[in-house]
Amino acid sequence: GDWVEADLDDLALSEDHDDSGPLPVVAIVGRPNVGKSTLVNRIIGRREAVVEDVPGVTRDRVTYEANWRGRRFTVVDTGGWDPDATGMGLRIAEQAQVAVELADVIVFVVDATVGATDADEIVGSVLRQAGKPVILAANKVDNQQLELEAAGLWSLGLGEPYPVSALHGRSSGDLLDVVLDALPETPRETFATERGPARVALLGKPNVGKSSLLNKLAGEERVLVDPIAGTTRDPVDELIELGGRTWRFVDTAGIRRRDRELQGADFYAAMRTRSALDRSEVAVVLIDASEPLTEQDLRIIGLVIESGRAMVVAFNKWDLVDEDRRYYLEKEIDRQLVRTPWALRVNISARTGRHVDRLVPALEKALESWSTRVPTARLNAFLTELVQQTPPPVRGGKQPKILFATQASVEPPKFVLFTSGWLEETYRRFVERRIREEFGFAGSPIEVTMKIRE
Ligand code: GDP
Ligand code: GDP
Repeated sequence: GDWVEADLDDLALSEDHDDSGPLPVVAIVGRPNVGKSTLVNRIIGRREAVVEDVPGVTRDRVTYEANWRGRRFTVVDTGGWDPDATGMGLRIAEQAQVAVELADVIVFVVDATVGATDADEIVGSVLRQAGKPVILAANKVDNQQLELEAAGLWSLGLGEPYPVSALHGRSSGDLLDVVLDALPETPRETFATERGPARVALLGKPNVGKSSLLNKLAGEERVLVDPIAGTTRDPVDELIELGGRTWRFVDTAGIRRRDRELQGADFYAAMRTRSALDRSEVAVVLIDASEPLTEQDLRIIGLVIESGRAMVVAFNKWDLVDEDRRYYLEKEIDRQLVRTPWALRVNISARTGRHVDRLVPALEKALESWSTRVPTARLNAFLTELVQQTPPPVRGGKQPKILFATQASVEPPKFVLFTSGWLEETYRRFVERRIREEFGFAGSPIEVTMKIRE
């Protein structure tokens, strides 16, 4: 049916979305002037995306959150990425490529009154290989006569062209229905609800107190032993109730058995640690606070970093640390953990039970950080402001820009910055630090990478 103004109510923009988890991303691609931003305006239901009559005008904001028939999603208008007309073919192909990388569904907008141009063919060929749903919108079909023109776009090899008029709203509701059908189910990413117990690797060199801590945590409660059949090393997981939730401590056989030679030999110790990390989501690295930090401690921390898991560092045997030495020890620890300032730290005593109750909140926070997804619109709003306040340093006479950013994954969180030029390492670290501060990734590693669009 035709678009009616009343439908605008269905398209109410959600203002408050921060706690909502990840939204599927719909990218709008197409060469300049085909009506992408007009369509985005239709989709988000308000006149916010600036429509300019100048072809290829650069727009600052490119992401919007939309809601159609109760389904919420992020719309990315890739129109803002066409700064000028030189090398247009390449630019367009790149734009399509980027859209493919970040979107769940791609809406490819073609001007039906013009037909498929060379640039459209280029985009078409990129999108045909995308492996993602592509919806071909034949725009500017303002009346029925023009629908015949739309049919000509079958030639792009992207299936049925959907005739719409973004300007007048004609059939845009139908188009959105098709988009909705193509959206993936919004993934639920809270580790607690979907995946059963959170999985913890309890790590540390021999004699650091792993076994004592495990006993302390299990306490009087029933410890469920869960042997996995058919494995040679018989890793045994223990399920322990803590803070109202079940935690799976993976591969505790070695800890319980006091498998000293396995733990002691570097090679096997590393192998065992790696396999425990593979099976877990968060690591507790126990360190003996009564002794200087050793190579072995740092090696274990290195393995956790390599694994991309969330991490809590627990300084054990705190009861052996003199009151007056504690302050200096804290400073020393800060200095030695410079590589992982994000790791959460607790000072405990497995023997006396001191502050052992702080371990679970730390684990919970680390896991929460590890699974956090920052909504694309919020991330970009934050970065826009950040770059305004502190622009990237000029390089070779040019000011690189962050054009767009997206969180490509969770567990661990990875961010991709699409930039117009090389960002200095120090600036990238600065951005990473600010992302951490803003969105609170305590206890989790995060990765910030850059993709340059020349
Ligand atoms: P973009 O560069 O792809 O984002 O294109 P715009 O949304 O800025 O639109 C380019 C021009 O096409 C503007 O003058 C729009 O008013 C016009 N336009 C967009 N959609 C339609 C449509 O459905 N029908 C007609 N006749 N014009 C349209
Ligand atoms: P594991 O090899 O890492 O499993 O370490 P154990 O749990 O077997 O502990 C090694 C030794 O350190 C044992 O003698 C424990 O009693 C002792 N130990 C463990 N935790 C603490 C603690 O918090 N304080 C003190 N003083 N000793 C501890």
